[in-house]
Amino acid sequence: MQKTLREYILEADKAGVAIGHFNISNLEALHGIYKAAKKLNLPVIIGLSEGEEKFVGKGEAVALIKELRENEHYPIFLNADHHYSFETVKAALDAGYDSAIIDAVKLPLDENIALTKKCVDYALELSKKTGRDILIEAELGFIGTSSKILDALPEGVSEKTMTTPEDAKHFVEATGIDLLAPSIGNVHGMVRGGNPRLHPERVKAIREATGIPLVLHGGSGTMDQDFLDCIKEGIDIVHINTEIRVAYKEAVEKFLQSHPEEIAPYKILESAVEAVALVVEARLKLFNRMQ
Ligand SMILES: [Zn+2]
Repeated sequence: MQKTLREYILEADKAGVAIGHFNISNLEALHGIYKAAKKLNLPVIIGLSEGEEKFVGKGEAVALIKELRENEHYPIFLNADHHYSFETVKAALDAGYDSAIIDAVKLPLDENIALTKKCVDYALELSKKTGRDILIEAELGFIGTSSKILDALPEGVSEKTMTTPEDAKHFVEATGIDLLAPSIGNVHGMVRGGNPRLHPERVKAIREATGIPLVLHGGSGTMDQDFLDCIKEGIDIVHINTEIRVAYKEAVEKFLQSHPEEIAPYKILESAVEAVALVVEARLKLFNRMQ
C-alpha cells in the first residue's frame, strides 16, 4: 500500500521539512521535476492552475501522474492549484486529482467560507465514495495572483493583508479545510530587486492557532533562510512556479540561439527538462535540509 499525500505531509511536518509543489504546463516540466525528485528520493506534488490545466488537459494530467505513481511506484501527487469555483474544483477531483485549492480570497469572508465549505463537503463525500483521501486547501489573506516577473509588489499586498492567527483559526474551524495557505509576507511571482522577507513568527502563531499543516505559496525568489525558518515553524508544502518558468524559457532561448538549425522538438526541449530539473533539485535539497 502506498502512503497517501496526507501521510507524507504529516511525515514532513514531524521531520521539520517541506514537500515541494511545482507547476507544469507540459510534459517536459513534469519530466524535469520527476527527474530531480527521483534523484533525491523525495515525494513531490505537481500543480496545475486553471490555465495550466486547460492547456495540458485534466484527464491527461491525471493519466501522467497515474503512470508515475502506479507503474513506477513513485510518491507523486496531483493538485488543482488555485481553482476559483466549485465547478472547476469538482471537475478536477472527479477527474482524479489528489487535492484542490479553492481560491475564494477575492470574495467577502462569509461567501469565501461558504464556497470553501462546499468544496470540503464534496471532497469528503467523494473520498467516502471512492476510498481516496482527497485534501482541500484554501488561501487566506491576499498575496497577489500571477506567477511572473513583477516590477513591484502586487497592488493590495501589504503588512495589513497578512493573515492573523485569529482569522485563520475562525476560517479553519468554519470550513474544515485540510491545508491552509496563509499570507505571511509572501507574494506570487518574483519581484525585481528581491521578494519581501517572510514572517516565521507569524507562521508559528497561525500554526498554533489552527493546528493544521500550512502551505507557502509564492516561494519563487524567497531567501533561503526565510524558507528554512518558515518550514521550521509549520510550513509543510512550498509552491514554486515562476522560477521553473524562467528556467524553462531561458534554456529554450539559449538552445535555439546556439542551434538555429535544430527542428526536432525533443532535442530542443531536452534543454528545458534539464533546466527545470536543476531548479527543482536545488529547491528540494533546501526544503529537506540536504545541503
Ligand atoms: Zn499560489
